[in-house]
This record gives sequence, C-alpha cells and structure tokens, in this order.
Amino acid sequence: MIDDVFCKIIHGEIKSETVYKDDDFWVIHDINPQAPVHLLIIPAKHFTSLEDFMEGNNNGLLGKALVIAHKVAHDVGIAEKGYRLILNEGEYGGKLVPHLHIHLLGGKKLGPKIVG
Ligand SMILES: [Zn+2]
Repeated sequence: MIDDVFCKIIHGEIKSETVYKDDDFWVIHDINPQAPVHLLIIPAKHFTSLEDFMEGNNNGLLGKALVIAHKVAHDVGIAEKGYRLILNEGEYGGKLVPHLHIHLLGGKKLGPKIVG
C-alpha cells in the first residue's frame, strides 16, 4: 500500500480542495503556496517519479497533463497573463512528495529566478 499524501488524497483519506479531476489526473491546491495561485497536477495512479512514469509506457499521459494545466490555468483566470509549470524530479530536483506531480504557479509576475 502506497501511503504518500497524494495517494491519501486520491483515495479520500485526506480532504483537499480539488480544482479538477478525471480518471487520469487530479488538480489540487498546494498547502504551502509559493504564489497567489499554486496548484498541483497529480496522476490519479501512483508513480513515484518521472522515471517510474516512463517505464510504464505512459508517455501519452504527459501530454494530457499539459493540456489539463492549460485548461485549469484558463479556469482559474491566470492563462492570459501567464503562468509557470515546474516538475521536480528526485532528491536534487527538490521533490518533497514521492508521487509525480507538476506545479502550476501564477497570479503574479514571477521572477526570472527558477533555481533557489
Ligand atoms: Zn502516491
């Protein structure tokens, strides 16, 4: 049984404010927002990492993740001004939860600094 926080959310063990959901992806609010809008695009099925995701021959789903990011950015009203997508992979990438996810950040003009 995989028991990271995102699996718990998807299995209903932890409540979250869900912005979007379908069979493949959920979009929720980050509990520690780094921008006025900070959402997380999470595969409904558990993948520990991008490495794990690729091994499962799920490449097509990555394209869908970007389509959903674009749709949700429109839904929450940040698409016109722009936003940033970030995927942290592994320890050096700074991933905190061992379940693949993409950060969607916006709602203000983000600085040029990506690495901190
Ligand atoms: Zn998980």
